[in-house]
Amino acid sequence: MQLNTLTKSILAFEKKYYRPPHSVSLLAVSKKHSAEKIRELFSQGQQSFGENYLQEALEKQVFLKELPIEWHFIGHIQSNKTKLIAEHFSWVQSLDRLAIAKRLNMQRPIHLPPLNICIEINIDREKNKSGIFPEDLLCFAKEILSFKNLKLRGLMIIPEKNNLGAFEKTAQLQQQLIDAGFFVDTLSMGMSSDYEAAIAAGSTMVRIGSALFHN
Ligand SMILES: *Cc1c(COP(=O)(O)O)cnc(C)c1O
Repeated sequence: MQLNTLTKSILAFEKKYYRPPHSVSLLAVSKKHSAEKIRELFSQGQQSFGENYLQEALEKQVFLKELPIEWHFIGHIQSNKTKLIAEHFSWVQSLDRLAIAKRLNMQRPIHLPPLNICIEINIDREKNKSGIFPEDLLCFAKEILSFKNLKLRGLMIIPEKNNLGAFEKTAQLQQQLIDAGFFVDTLSMGMSSDYEAAIAAGSTMVRIGSALFHN
């Protein structure tokens, strides 16, 4: 799909589900796609890109360093990679444990604004998947608040295929955070195959890879 087709489709779903126009932003997930392709999408107006693999992302960032791209790290985080992630990204959407939060907070360079954080929720309670269980969220979020170089923005999920109920559940968790006094504004959910349902449930950021890059 072309970028403008995808943007129009997001707008159409906002309208269909009575969401305010432009309340859902697009993160272009560029893993396994070239710096040239990213440059082309940037020239068409796309500013935020998500990457899963640190080494691959850093290589592309070198080629694109003159562009004011907002980079999101969305992959699994190994503790020996936190320093480079803290230095080279504006967002981390896959925060799933306290030890990683501590390291990112310590290693975030002081000349940069706080690192924007989404907590990854293991909404389907899958055994081999990372993420915080829903019942542990409030405690975990409170810990994150004490880290001055991190800015908690909200939640992120990668649900099981066809579990559309996961979106509603995650929206409720986000509401629990808000009711508990957290200032969170980001609900990162919805990918190429399910972004309509995610928008219907209240997503504020869809992360789209294959639908955008394979055209
Ligand atoms: C790859 C990936 C996406 C994009 O998935 P598509 O199905 O290609 O749109 C979104 N989020 C995460 C965390 C991913 O790893």
